[in-house]
Amino acid sequence: MTRLELGNVTKTFDSPGGEVVAVNDLSLTVEEGEFLVLLGPSGCGKTTTLRMIGGLEEPTEGDVMFDGIRVNDVKARNRDVAMVFQDFALYPHMTVERNLGFGLEREDNDLSSAAITEKVREVAEMLEILDLLDKKPAALSGGQKQRVALGRAIVREPRLFLFDEPLANLDAKLRKTMRTEIDRLQSRMDITSAYVTHNQEEAMTIADKIAVLDDGKLQQVGTPAEVFNEPTNLFVARFVGSPDMNVFEATMTEDGDAYRIETAGTSFRIPAALVPGETAAMDVTVGFRPQDLFREGSSATRRGHGGPVIDTDVNVIEPLGTDAIVHADAEAGELTATVTRFHEIDEGESVRFTVAPEHVYLFEKETERLIK
Ligand code: ATP
Repeated sequence: MTRLELGNVTKTFDSPGGEVVAVNDLSLTVEEGEFLVLLGPSGCGKTTTLRMIGGLEEPTEGDVMFDGIRVNDVKARNRDVAMVFQDFALYPHMTVERNLGFGLEREDNDLSSAAITEKVREVAEMLEILDLLDKKPAALSGGQKQRVALGRAIVREPRLFLFDEPLANLDAKLRKTMRTEIDRLQSRMDITSAYVTHNQEEAMTIADKIAVLDDGKLQQVGTPAEVFNEPTNLFVARFVGSPDMNVFEATMTEDGDAYRIETAGTSFRIPAALVPGETAAMDVTVGFRPQDLFREGSSATRRGHGGPVIDTDVNVIEPLGTDAIVHADAEAGELTATVTRFHEIDEGESVRFTVAPEHVYLFEKETERLIK
C-alpha cells in the first residue's frame, strides 16, 4: 500500500493567450488504501493533478511523493500506477482476454503465460465478464468496455489507481452501478486511489475524502460529510449538495445576545453562541440547504422555530418519487426546497418556509469564508 503526497505542487502551461496556472500550490495527502476524489468544475485543474501523480505531466514546482520518496523524475511506466480514463482506451484489435493480460505480458515480471491467464480469469470473474473474454472491444457495450478497462487496471495490482472521469460516458443508471462496483473493488483490494470527477453526487457516494478545487486552488479537503456540513467557503457550499444551496445577500448586526440577519423580505436572529468569535457587523451571504427548509404548518415546523420565515409563491413542483423539488419566488430571490408530502401544495400557491437557526449558513460577503 502506498501513501501519496503532493507538496506545494504548481503546474503552469504556456498558451497563446499567456501563461495558464492549471494547478496552484496544491498540497494534499492520500493515506494508504484511501479513496480520494478530486472534485471541481471544468478547468479547475483536476486532470492536470492526476496526470502529475501518474507521471504524464511534470510539475513546474513542488513534489509528488510515494511513501515519502520523491517521484517527480520517475517515468510514468516506472511508477506502478494504473489509470482508467473515460474513453476506456482499449486496444481495438485485441480480444478482451488480451486487453486484460497485455500489461502483464509487457511488464518486467516473472509471470508465465499460464499464470497470466489465471490472473486474467480471476479478474474477469470478479467483474463478471468471463463470457466476454473472446470478444473484441467493438462488440461490447459501454458498460462492458468500462469493466474491461477496470479489469486491466486491477489485474496489475498497482501501487495506485488513478481514475479520470471513468463513468462520464455511461448512462445514468449504469453510472450508479459502476460506481458501486468501483467502490467495492477498491475497498476489497485496498489500493490507494485518486478519482477525478466534476459530479458532486458521484464524489459524495464514492469518496473517503474529497478535495474540492477551484481555479487550480484547493478549497477544502474533508470527508463527504465534512464538505457538505461544514464547507469552508461559499464556493464549496454551492458546489457540493443537490439541489444547490439557496443564497441571498444580507446584513448581520449585533442585537443583544444574538445577531440580527436581515435580507429582503425576512429578518431573524441567530444566537451569538452559534456564531463564536464574530463581533463585527458586516455584509454577509446567507445560505439555506433545500433539504433544511420546512413548510410552515407542517409537522416539522417546530424544528424551524426561531429561524427565518420566508414567504414565497410556488412556481414549479418537480416530483422525484417520494419527495419533490419546489421552486418558488421569495422577495430576496428564487428559493428551492426539497419537500415531502408535496401533493398538499399546488403550483401558484403561497407557501411560507422556515429553517432552524442551526441550519442557517452565513458567509462573510467580502471573503466568502464560512462564518457559521
Ligand atoms: P475538465 O473537467 O474540463 O477536464 P479539469 O479540471 O480536469 O477540467 P485541467 O484539464 O486540469 O482541468 O485543466 C486546467 C487548466 O489548464 C485549464 O485552464 C486548461 O485549459 C489548462 N490546460 C490543461 N492542459 C493544458 C495544456 N497542455 N496546455 C495548455 N493549457 C492546458
